[in-house]
Amino acid sequence: MTCPTCRSVAFFEALECAQCLTPLGFHAPSTTMSEVRPAGVPINGRTWVACSNRGWGCNWLLADDEGSGRCAACRLIRRQPDADDTMAWEKLADTAVDLRRLLVQLDEIGLPVVGWHEREGGLGFDLLSSRTANTPVLIGHANGIITIDLVESLADHRESIRVRLGEPYRTMLGHFRHEVGHYYEWILVESAGDATLLESCRRLFGDERASYTDALDRHYRLGPPADWQTTYISEYATMHPWEDFAECFAHYLHIQGTLATAASAGLVLKADRVPQLLTEDVEPGLDYGDRTVDQILDDWRVLAIFFNRVNRAMGHADLYPFTIPDPVTRKLAFVHRVIGSVRS
Ligand SMILES: [Zn+2]
Ligand SMILES: [Zn+2]
Ligand SMILES: [Zn+2]
Repeated sequence: MTCPTCRSVAFFEALECAQCLTPLGFHAPSTTMSEVRPAGVPINGRTWVACSNRGWGCNWLLADDEGSGRCAACRLIRRQPDADDTMAWEKLADTAVDLRRLLVQLDEIGLPVVGWHEREGGLGFDLLSSRTANTPVLIGHANGIITIDLVESLADHRESIRVRLGEPYRTMLGHFRHEVGHYYEWILVESAGDATLLESCRRLFGDERASYTDALDRHYRLGPPADWQTTYISEYATMHPWEDFAECFAHYLHIQGTLATAASAGLVLKADRVPQLLTEDVEPGLDYGDRTVDQILDDWRVLAIFFNRVNRAMGHADLYPFTIPDPVTRKLAFVHRVIGSVRS
């Protein structure tokens, strides 16, 4: 995206242009950046104004005839900390950046988003803090509502849980991508009324009617099966068929989103520069909607090696600390097919 005033690059979370300081607002329907003006800016016949949450970092615009002060992203937030809980509100601002990143990606790949305020069972977010007195907060999904613990936005807290659970990767964006996977399995597979689709899903991921409580208990008592790497993307995915689907869905979004970001920067890996790695140029795509999962993963395996080395060059751990065995490729192909069937 570019600044409308000086045409320099504008990143999607920017509140103002780093070069010319023009106040920037994100126009979601066209995924473009616009100037923000108090009286609004005309775009495609409507007047667009800043979201009322701009004070804590939301840079989205909304049409002034929408009958709300909050943008389409902020309207999906069903519950948030009380206004006087300033500690929690700082974390809410950080967390909402990841929420908006998720929503842009869902739109890019054509997944429908119908809000909890528009329909019973629509998508909504309870963004709450477990450090607020007397509020246990369990990250999860139920009937369209995704609950997120804002404390997970604190690096030390998140890292201590990551180490304790032996996870190679744990981020707030990762939580959003995983939980929204539960939501889409529920609306696009389980409630779709397509018995063949549901049967294919059960063949790949297992029968989701298995007791979740028993699965949870077994997982934390015994851990994953010894050879889990041959059929699962993560230890957590082994716990229950729902978790396997949500983990695969999250990885689909990780891979697609990272490839699209590389593509938007014009990145191409040239085979003649790295003949030991490549037989032909690798040009990541902005959109893989009309390609197969094998084509996505062919690009990804090379890019992941490259990004992992880039991270190592800075002394960080691998960007993508996972390997994808063939059974997981088939699960990702199912996710790709389900998304492809509803692409708008
Ligand atoms: Zn500018
Ligand atoms: Zn907003
Ligand atoms: Zn889950």
